[in-house]
Formats: sequence, structure tokens, C-alpha cells
Amino acid sequence: MSTFAPTLFSGKRYAVVGLGKNGLPAALGLRAMGAEVVAWDDNPASRAVPDAGIEVRDPTSGPFDFDALVLSPGIPHRLPKPHPAAVRAIEAGVPILSDVELLYQAVRASGSRARFVGITGTNGKSTTTALLAHIIEQAGTPVAAGANLGPAALSLPLLPHDGVYVLEMSSYMLERLASIRFDVAVMLNLSADHIDRHGDMAGYALAKRAIFDRQVSGDLAVVGIDDPGARDMAAWLDTRPARVVRVSGSEVPLASGPALPGAHNVQNAMAATAMARFLGVPDEVIAVGLRTYPGLPHRQQRIVTIDGVTFINDSKATNAEASEVALVCYDRVIWIAGGMAKEGGIEPLVPLFPRIARALLIGRDAPDFAATLTRHGVPFDMVGTLETAVPAAFAAAKADDAPIVLLSPACASWDQFTGYDQRGDRFAELARGMQAGGI
Ligand code: ADP
Repeated sequence: MSTFAPTLFSGKRYAVVGLGKNGLPAALGLRAMGAEVVAWDDNPASRAVPDAGIEVRDPTSGPFDFDALVLSPGIPHRLPKPHPAAVRAIEAGVPILSDVELLYQAVRASGSRARFVGITGTNGKSTTTALLAHIIEQAGTPVAAGANLGPAALSLPLLPHDGVYVLEMSSYMLERLASIRFDVAVMLNLSADHIDRHGDMAGYALAKRAIFDRQVSGDLAVVGIDDPGARDMAAWLDTRPARVVRVSGSEVPLASGPALPGAHNVQNAMAATAMARFLGVPDEVIAVGLRTYPGLPHRQQRIVTIDGVTFINDSKATNAEASEVALVCYDRVIWIAGGMAKEGGIEPLVPLFPRIARALLIGRDAPDFAATLTRHGVPFDMVGTLETAVPAAFAAAKADDAPIVLLSPACASWDQFTGYDQRGDRFAELARGMQAGGI
């Protein structure tokens, strides 16, 4: 592995807007490749960039003479309302690109034929990305994994010809590609999410479908078939040149391990297996990878078992579909949920309500969830915060003889936390605190 040449992008000019976990590495990475970079963030606190020759100013304050605008995935260029920099870029005919596109351009400009894997879907992206990278590592092949999952695309190293980039692609990133061709691409599943940005379900599906753009015969397209949106995409893929492999959570994987519970993880394992095979990894190595995969934090992560009660952190479940696949793994749980709900709330979870011994509700949309639970006779308490929820859940687990306390909120976390990771970390800390003899 090595770094990119410091003159690779000499003579290029980029505007980078949004200096968060993708934008800042993008600005620094492009500068380190010799490009001129104008960087900006609407939040003054985020404008403090390391001294690397980056010009910090609003790019809309002068002529918009850039080779591209790199806009953070969180900033819209279309819906609900385009950012002013995006408006200028569109007027000036300047492409709006994601950092992944620029990574691809940098790798190819460096002469490397390293292969690119793109992974998308509503749920399971990070798991499949980390799992495939782990399997490829077992095979001794140079691999760099990241993008949406982190590390950001433009902080990944330059890989040699036999290297593989495994990139988690959000629908936002997929809208901002120009030339990248994924040798291997997967679309795992499709359910309503991020509709505010994509207009409607059709717009969201179209954004996800872009992962297969520019694929040619000899490439591999992997697609889930466990929901109607994904099945439609599978039918469409049959009209395209790449080889198509369909994967489902109803199959039997080559092997499984403790970090891959549930049918949803079978879907992830099948997708990773199909991709690894295509990349030349032998089945026995794939099996080792599936068995030894260590898991990611905040995805059905076992935190601690106290007095026979196991605390599970599934903070990453920010929509009902994600919570559904976790709830289905346990027969009797104390469920901590709530936050900023997605369209439809927890209605999709009604068939799983018999598994819930008691629910503890936190966050903004707790009253909505309470209404649904009341209609179905599920006992619950409105506890407001995690600080109250965790000890209450522990007490309820013992009183109701439920061996599992599951944080799987079916909600975004922004009302109370900086993100799902902070929410999960706090849960883990509180759960471990119970062990220390807390309450
Ligand atoms: P993403 O990166 O797409 O958000 P993750 O791999 O981080 O997905 O998983 C997030 C949550 O989504 C998990 O905790 C699990 O509850 C659920 N999930 C994971 N894989 C799948 C899948 N293939 N289908 C449905 N839900 C899944």
C-alpha cells in the first residue's frame, strides 16, 4: 500500500463544501495530491482545517471555476432544497461529485488496476462491507474498506493492481458519480428511507440502482430478492450486461459465526460470499472469514451479561426494518426504542410484539410508539432518556423473566444524540455501569 503522488491532481481546482467526516479528508486528500482546494462549511466551528494550503472561503463568493464541487453526503443538491453551492455548480456546469468518484479517478490516474466493490441497500451495507473486507484479508489480498462506513474514501491508501477497494455507498453518494465502474456491486434490500432527499420510493430506488451503472460483461451484480423493490431491480439487472447473482436470507451459508445472527445476516453473508468467490477467494477461506468475522459495534453487539440478563446494543437500527431483524432473533425481550421515527413508525413490527415483554420508550416520537403499543396491548413505560431506560430495563428483565435487554430504537437519534454511535456508546456505558453495582 502506498500514498498518492503529490502532483497527481496538479492544475485541478476543487470546491469542497461540508467539512465533516467525508469532507475534511476529501479536502486534505485532494490538496495532498496537488490540487487547489477551496473548502467551506456553513458551520463556522467546522471551518478550522489543518494548515495544508487549503483556501477556506465560501466558494459561491467568486467565479465558480472549479473542476468539481465535492459536496458532503449530508448536503442536498436537489431535494428538499439545493444548497447554494450546488445551485452555482449546476448553473456553471460544474459536476457535483462524491469523494468516492475522486478516489476512483485518483487510483486510475495513478495507473493502478485495483478492483472496486460497491455495496448498497437500505440495511446491511456496513456489515457486508466489513465482512467482505475481512474475508479478503483472510486470503492475503491487499484490501481497503471504507467510504460511508469510514474511513472516508479519500483517506484510503493507493492499492496495487491486485488490491480491492470495498466501498459502502449511501444513496447520497450514488447520486454523485461520474466515471466509477464497480467491478462488483451489490444492492441488498430496499425499504422506505431518506424519502425527503429522493422525492419518492421510485427516486430512492433509482439512486440505489446507480451502483450498477457502467458495469460491463465480466463484472458481477449481486442483488437481494427478499423484498419487492430488490426483486424489481433483479429483473432489471437481467437486461444488463453484468453477470447477476441473486441472494436471499433463506439460503444456507458456507459457515456462520457468533457475529452474524439472524436471517438478515445470512443475506449479508451470501452477498459477501458471492463477491468473494468472484474475486477469487476459495470457499474454505471464505468459510474461515465467515466464522471469524468480529462484528461491528452498534449492530446487535453483545455488551455484557449481568445476572443472566444480556444487554444488546443495536443502536444502528434507525428504522423499523432494521429493528425487525433484530427482534426476530430473540423470543422474549425488554425493548428500548424511540427517537426520531421514520414514516410508518413501528407499525411494521406489530407481528413481533408478542416477543416484547415490556418496552421502554425514549426520545421525541415516544408518544407515537406508545399509541401503537397501547393498541396492541404491549406493556410499556415512557422513560424519556437512556439514563432512565437502562436501569428500568434491567429491573423489568428480572421482574418479567426476560433474558435480553435490546436497544434497537427503530429511530434516528438526532433529537438526543450526535448520532447512533453516541447513543450506542452511552447505552453500553450505562449497561456496564449496572454490573459495577449501579442501581
Ligand atoms: P447499514 O450500513 O446499511 O445501515 P448495517 O450493516 O450497519 O447496515 O446494519 C444496520 C442494522 O440493520 C443492523 O443492526 C440490523 O438490525 C439491520 N440489518 C443488517 N443487515 C440487514 C439485512 N441484510 N436486511 C435487513 N436488515 C439488516
